[in-house]
Amino acid sequence: TQNRQTESADEILEPLRAAGQTESPARGLSFANTPDSDPSLMHNLEWAREIIGRFEHSDLGKQGLADAKVNTEEELEEIMARASAAGREWVARPIEERVEILHNVGLALAKHRGELIEVAGSEAGKTFDQGDVEVSEAVDFSHYYAESALKMVQETEGAKFTPTNLTVVTPPWNFPLAIPAGGVLAALSAGSAVVFKPAAAAARCGAVLAEIMWEAGVPRDLLAFVSLGERALGKQLLTDQRVGRVVLTGGSETADLFRSWRSDLPLLAETSGKNAIVVTPSADLDLAVKDVVYSAFGHAGQKCSAASLVILVGSVGTSARFARQLVDAVNSLQVGYPWDPTSEMGPVIAPPTGKLKEGLTGKLGEGERWIVKPEQLDDSGKLWSPGVRSGVQPGSAYHLTEYFGPILGVMRAETLEQAVEWVNQVDYGLTSGIHSLDAEEINYWIDNVHAGNLYINRGTTGAIVQRQPFGGWKRSAVGNGAKAGGPNYLYAFGNWAPAPTEA
Ligand code: GLU
Repeated sequence: TQNRQTESADEILEPLRAAGQTESPARGLSFANTPDSDPSLMHNLEWAREIIGRFEHSDLGKQGLADAKVNTEEELEEIMARASAAGREWVARPIEERVEILHNVGLALAKHRGELIEVAGSEAGKTFDQGDVEVSEAVDFSHYYAESALKMVQETEGAKFTPTNLTVVTPPWNFPLAIPAGGVLAALSAGSAVVFKPAAAAARCGAVLAEIMWEAGVPRDLLAFVSLGERALGKQLLTDQRVGRVVLTGGSETADLFRSWRSDLPLLAETSGKNAIVVTPSADLDLAVKDVVYSAFGHAGQKCSAASLVILVGSVGTSARFARQLVDAVNSLQVGYPWDPTSEMGPVIAPPTGKLKEGLTGKLGEGERWIVKPEQLDDSGKLWSPGVRSGVQPGSAYHLTEYFGPILGVMRAETLEQAVEWVNQVDYGLTSGIHSLDAEEINYWIDNVHAGNLYINRGTTGAIVQRQPFGGWKRSAVGNGAKAGGPNYLYAFGNWAPAPTEA
């Protein structure tokens, strides 16, 4: 763990020290949510510490992953044939029976919260707090989609909803619990069988999830968890005509690759983002700093929903107080491995290459300067302190590129209109935020900004199932626009023929 306090952060600490609180430097400005500092965790601090203590040497999911290895075309064909048959049996079962199993999955995920946090921390570098909210989201998906399945049956009474027989779920490594759980549970709830292929960097997380779901009563053949030995098998999987839905969350390059394999690929995808938070002079600036920092650096910025731009409007852009608070807050973040309980920002998934490397270490664009310079903190190449660059110009590489890591860019706009124009200039449109206490400004922004998820006076990450259905616009989405955790999502897993009208 690095402790990189600035002088000003020390000043802020002074009153705390005087009050006898010597730990947790400048926590008031950071997004501290570690067991040390989050009062809501105090009552089970012991439990949290015990789990964090297991992060470093955990081998949860290892056996399950080894068992899931598929090496040949024949093996994959057999798994798919069995899943397909299990799908036909599943959809023939009474809806109440299916719903009960789906609710049981929710209960089981909650019961195994500790193991799930453990494997996410151990394998995917998730700090305790980030793993914890993922489990909650996965539990929410279970119950929400179970209820949605019941509702869908009622709504389509007399009409015919035919679920796809087989769904392939290919989740990312950055949300190794919530995103796969969401895709798998949506497909199962709609009445489909699932082939779940985890992200390579979070495959043990997938194995633990599958194990919990099987234990809760999901038939083994119905949920096939596979680790594919080679790329050719991935192609075989996606080009199989029994597969009526492919759920992908990942980069837009992956979507392009999949489509190059199969032109009529039934893809439902959430792909990338370059998200901004606009801060106007009417905003609560203290809150804005906190939300910007959390949105930019939570899970080291490795979220599609992360804010990698903050656009300061008018006088906010020249406010020394805002700038100082932002810099101090970023500098106060404790960067370290998730097995250190004081870590607030963990490592990136792998030593940066490509765009992320360029963003962290490459040449700055015209007019840009680091106001907090990112630094590599150890030999692993994975531990980086957060970076903030100011002076980002509209149309520049930084403005338009997704870096997917711990970097934030600051832009200064004359007016809200200009800020919104810059937000929309980006190809992606996943999340967007505004901090403003002026209703007219907020309404203008809502009416004009092009993004799937809009957040007012709140960070841009951490969509909540049912309350904030999640999905993008423009290059951030592929498919029929159905949003995860929202009321139409299950309809994306089949065909709905309307009730025949009386002649
Ligand atoms: N659903 C997540 C959130 O709201 C983001 C998912 C992603 O990164 O793909 O933060």
